[in-house]
Amino acid sequence: MRSISDLSKHDLETLFDHIQAAIALVDRDGKLISWNSVFETGKRQYPNAERLQDLFLQRDADLVRAKLMEHDKEHWAGEFAITETDAAVLCDFWLIPARNDYKIFIAERIATEADAETMVGKLRKQVRLYQVESEYSKKLARNKQIEMEAVLAQAQEVAHVDPLTFLPNRRTIIKDLQSEVMRAERYRSLFSISVVDIDNFKMINDNYGHPVGDEVLRHVALLLRDSIRHPDVVGRYGGEEFIILLPNSDKHAAAEQAARLCREIRSHTVRSKDHEMRVSISIGIAEFKVGEDSWHSLLKRADNAMFTAKNNGRDRWVIGD
Ligand code: GH3
Ligand code: MG
Ligand code: MG
Repeated sequence: MRSISDLSKHDLETLFDHIQAAIALVDRDGKLISWNSVFETGKRQYPNAERLQDLFLQRDADLVRAKLMEHDKEHWAGEFAITETDAAVLCDFWLIPARNDYKIFIAERIATEADAETMVGKLRKQVRLYQVESEYSKKLARNKQIEMEAVLAQAQEVAHVDPLTFLPNRRTIIKDLQSEVMRAERYRSLFSISVVDIDNFKMINDNYGHPVGDEVLRHVALLLRDSIRHPDVVGRYGGEEFIILLPNSDKHAAAEQAARLCREIRSHTVRSKDHEMRVSISIGIAEFKVGEDSWHSLLKRADNAMFTAKNNGRDRWVIGD
């Protein structure tokens, strides 16, 4: 099979120009060597920029300089000019060491609610186009608007909510996590996450059938949602796994909550189709480390801690290192 190293320089340039991320090759001081067309779009807002850090807001430029000095691959989040219209949008950043002390910089836009708003804005404009003077067309426009609003409301719901548990779905909770990481990096604020996994869930499915399993999932989801306090949020991360975000909380506060959740779940009996069951959960906790963690690494640490809780006998919580 051919590999990417078989591509000519021209092929590679074409490839980079079709990627939605902003990509640039820089040296250790951040001096811009070459870049793709998306990067060029953002760069146009800074005609005098010679170095990567010149494209960042003043308050973020120091962080970029520090990242450039590192020898390993760096991953963080922040604001970056990636489009011509917005001054800066929320992005994931990577700095990857390359040959000759060069680094490859990648900025990839994190989708936000603003995207949905843009779409709604466009549709509203369309509705206004319909709003011409005659009564008949006014009625048409009204119907069109009602129809569109219903569709939009439904689309937003489907896009954000898990249909089985009605909790925020994987995409939504990860997006919330990414925002929390950004906030923590910007304001040096504190937050923790918990990964919750139902114990021996496969056995429930095997013994009582999938529909009963689904019922147990809904039950656990509800209990979790009702047992956490504002501003904490819980989302369904996967099959029988949930993520809880705890803004402004350290790992000890998260542990206190985890102990309460384990107790709460274990003390309830689930009834479904004439069966009565007791379930338990294992929880892994991790506190965000500013300047060290990305959302991936934070999640990984919480996940590892959750597996330790499983290995230690389940129905318990563990704080990740
Ligand atoms: P452990 O204590 O180690 O977590 O054991 P477990 O049995 O919970 O672990 P495992 O991850 O092997 O099993 C998870 C099971 O969850 C496997 C999968 O079939 C089931 N599952 C995933 N999503 C759903 C769902 O939406 N509904 C139902 N009923 N089951 C699901
Ligand atoms: Mg699991
Ligand atoms: Mg499990």
